[in-house]
Amino acid sequence: MNSPETISSVRHSVTSLPITASFAALPPAFYTRLASSPLPAPYLVCASAEAAKLIELDTLALESEDFIQVFSGNARLQQSSPLSAVYSGHQFGVWAGQLGDGRAILLGETASPSTIPEGMLELQLKGAGPTPYSRRADGRAVLRSSIREFLCSEAMAALGIPTSRALSVIGSDMRVMREAPESTAVVTRMAPSFVRFGSFEHWFYNDRKDELKILADYVIKRSYPDLQANPKPYKSLLQEVSRRTAELIAQWQAVGFMHGVLNTDNMSILGQTLDYGPYGFMEAYDPGHICNHTDQQGRYAYKMQPKIGHWNCYALGQALLPLIGEVDDVHEALAGYHSVHAAKLDALWHAKLGMLQVAQDDQTLIDALLAILQHNRVDFTLFFRRLSDLQLNDSNNDAPLRDLFVERAAFDAWAVKYRARLKQENSDDVTRKQSMNLVNPKYILRNYLAQVAIEKAQQKDFSEVQKLLNILQHPFDEQPEHAHYAALPPDWASGLEVSCSS
Ligand code: AMP
Ligand code: MG
Repeated sequence: MNSPETISSVRHSVTSLPITASFAALPPAFYTRLASSPLPAPYLVCASAEAAKLIELDTLALESEDFIQVFSGNARLQQSSPLSAVYSGHQFGVWAGQLGDGRAILLGETASPSTIPEGMLELQLKGAGPTPYSRRADGRAVLRSSIREFLCSEAMAALGIPTSRALSVIGSDMRVMREAPESTAVVTRMAPSFVRFGSFEHWFYNDRKDELKILADYVIKRSYPDLQANPKPYKSLLQEVSRRTAELIAQWQAVGFMHGVLNTDNMSILGQTLDYGPYGFMEAYDPGHICNHTDQQGRYAYKMQPKIGHWNCYALGQALLPLIGEVDDVHEALAGYHSVHAAKLDALWHAKLGMLQVAQDDQTLIDALLAILQHNRVDFTLFFRRLSDLQLNDSNNDAPLRDLFVERAAFDAWAVKYRARLKQENSDDVTRKQSMNLVNPKYILRNYLAQVAIEKAQQKDFSEVQKLLNILQHPFDEQPEHAHYAALPPDWASGLEVSCSS
């Protein structure tokens, strides 16, 4: 019989990681080849073994000096020909012109058998020094924002939400100026592709239809191969990206996630969560919540995200128009966006409430719940997690839920209707709890948890980053020993602000 070792597939060391290039095979206009800038005296802050497994990297390699050298940008992988890509975009609703990878360097791609359909993941260093697209900025990323991107990428993946992944954070004592001097880091991100809506807008606004077509054909061949045989491949691409975007945003909303900077240059052509900056998870439920201190108008507030996703898909549709040909086809491709979003969100609310069937008045029940959650400033995550303990025929055990409300009577009144609705479908307490606990996370990356880990890391204690990573990689598990990580934020956390500064 085979031992587990002989069954398991190849495990690469860092230096034997097979790197190939597909983006680099595009014409030179799409990027600039360049080397990363050296990072002084780099050290490992944290690495994700789960991410390493995706590219069949030996998890022991994460401890190696080679790992630190390669993923700080100090040593080049043999077959790698690093580059930074050009793109443009709309920022806060305004055309911003050329942006591009101002601090990201693509190393190439490596095999990832579980990544479908590409079978590959691109590896990108973020914060590895200036590029021709840096626009006078320093090309670096601070340790604070790097830890936030690293932890949230891995947390979102564990929540089952499409996202780029993060392999590691490598730190350095080198400081760069933000509001104050801060230490720097390099995050290694992984995604099948880092092409953005803004990558298409770039060629559209520069009137370069040939490049626009090359990019669309590249994306279709690599990531949407089924569309190759489609009679209207570009219209179908737009429709599929729009569908994925609508579903992604519904998934964000169902866990209370806000991206914070939904500019078109941060929108993945794969419909994945991309570019974690001033994101946030909803604590007290407030649909108008703005997680990004810089976003004073609330363009990217929680409740605005579906509309903005649609706006961004229109920007992509505009960019693809020269390939699609007919304006009507653009409209048709985008017409389903709102119903896709609504259907997905409705399905997610049902799952969160443990309701298996769909009944006529469900929307009223859901809206009534959201209204009392908002009015009572109830913690979104705690509420849904505790709701799974509700017993159909016994309200005497409702205290942990009722206690989340200032107006306990409001909860009691809603619970009467909820119980009645559950009884309609003969809901069973045990199975309902099991299924609800698979969709309502116990652990999310609250800003204050990230902040505690960041402050320790700034003092060179990386244990809390690792601990948070471990907890957040199993967000639906009880993990009773870590119950305090699921508690309400402490008072000091209410003063925390997250801005675009990174
Ligand atoms: P973001 O808001 O992080 O999505 O970044 C918007 C644009 O600014 C992108 O083109 C980034 O590459 C660029 N950028 C942000 N911060 C820096 C930096 N410190 N150095 C160079 N480019 C940056
Ligand atoms: Mg960005």
